[in-house]
Amino acid sequence: MKAGVFWLLLLLAALASAQSSAPADLQLLAEIDKLSAVDNHTHVEKVKADGEKDTESDALPCPEKEPALTPAMARSDIPELFTAWRALYGYPFRDRLPEHLAQLARTKHEVRQREGDHFPLWVLDQLNIEIMFANRIAMGLGLAPPRFRWVPYDDALMYPLNNDALKAENSDRRFFFEREEALLTRYVKELGLRTLPATLDEYLKTVVTPTLERQKEAGAVAIKFEMAYLRSLEVRSIDAASAARAYASLRSRPLTAADTQAYEGLQDYLLKYLAREGGRLGLALHFHTGFGCGSYFKLAGANPLLLEALLDDSDLRKTTFVLLHGGWPWSREMASLLTKPNVYTDTSEQSWLLSVDAFAPVLRQWLEFAPEKVLFGTDLYGADEPIGSEAGAASVEIGWEDVGWITSRRVRDSLAVALSGMARDGEITRGRALEIARMVLNGNARKLYGLADSE
Ligand SMILES: [Zn+2]
Repeated sequence: MKAGVFWLLLLLAALASAQSSAPADLQLLAEIDKLSAVDNHTHVEKVKADGEKDTESDALPCPEKEPALTPAMARSDIPELFTAWRALYGYPFRDRLPEHLAQLARTKHEVRQREGDHFPLWVLDQLNIEIMFANRIAMGLGLAPPRFRWVPYDDALMYPLNNDALKAENSDRRFFFEREEALLTRYVKELGLRTLPATLDEYLKTVVTPTLERQKEAGAVAIKFEMAYLRSLEVRSIDAASAARAYASLRSRPLTAADTQAYEGLQDYLLKYLAREGGRLGLALHFHTGFGCGSYFKLAGANPLLLEALLDDSDLRKTTFVLLHGGWPWSREMASLLTKPNVYTDTSEQSWLLSVDAFAPVLRQWLEFAPEKVLFGTDLYGADEPIGSEAGAASVEIGWEDVGWITSRRVRDSLAVALSGMARDGEITRGRALEIARMVLNGNARKLYGLADSE
């Protein structure tokens, strides 16, 4: 097939899947597809040996013990997977017959062998993503700058006391707090220390600040908080003396229900300290906001409005806050939060949970409020459950490249629908529509993180 015809068919297919009451301007969509992107949020995997697992692509992976229902748009039976496989691996079928999956598994393996350590770069080129932020515990094989940039996790620094009472709440919390404790132990060890210091002041000076400085030196562009999986996003203002007292007096004993408030106050104090240090070091703070995975996830505590006290803190005006996932289902609240000077959001997660029809109006509202504050993000990750394994036939892993292909396709389609509607309704000119697309896909992130302009 001629390349031009292929692209036209691909566009029509994308448009058919993206069809809404107000369709996209095809020419604008074609121009959007040509723009390379900066992906603000992913859990990209390192290059693995056959059978190897990558355990560092998320500090708090979705708990497996008592899983929640996977939203239907993110399940492994979506037809968009066929389109992704065709684009990436030339998969000519629209079915999951065992012999077809076996062929796909061979092709995937061959491509990985052929590309070797360059496989992640090959994927970036297929997805037209120039720079990808890797939200990982540590970077790994094949994930080097300048095209991959690190976003480490820093929740662990907020929980220096005994967390047994928090773990007892349910199996998810137990799993999460065990992971956070292991990460804090790792950070402390990396600094050459054996145990946590006796006072809060020493903890801040010898553990918290040096950890952030090490991350900055290692190339981090931002630091990530999965706080909504561990506690509510609501933060109070706590004075230094109370926080110091809580740290010193509660450090070496199991906590009781009566200690809960004091521990939470200490966490609030530590978060504010981390936010100030992030601002000083030029590290933006990334927060998970809105819907999360696991059957015990407390959605009400993940409302981005709960962060307002932190966002409005006059001591933190030098800190940039990126509220990931658009805070869905609080996307309208997010639109209004974007008018605050230091608040940004991205398209990640929503593009995996929502159809183009559902996401385009959300995006349009954000763009009508603050087009300079919206960032492209895919939240791509490697799925755990291979397709076909249950049949005992060939199994095919849904790789991060497959998820990334689908989610970036949905963002580009949603952007085209939203901007076409705005241009059609006379809110913006056609030229401005393309300019906004460039900002969302690339320019806003470059400006925010101080990345050099692309050639
Ligand atoms: Zn994520």
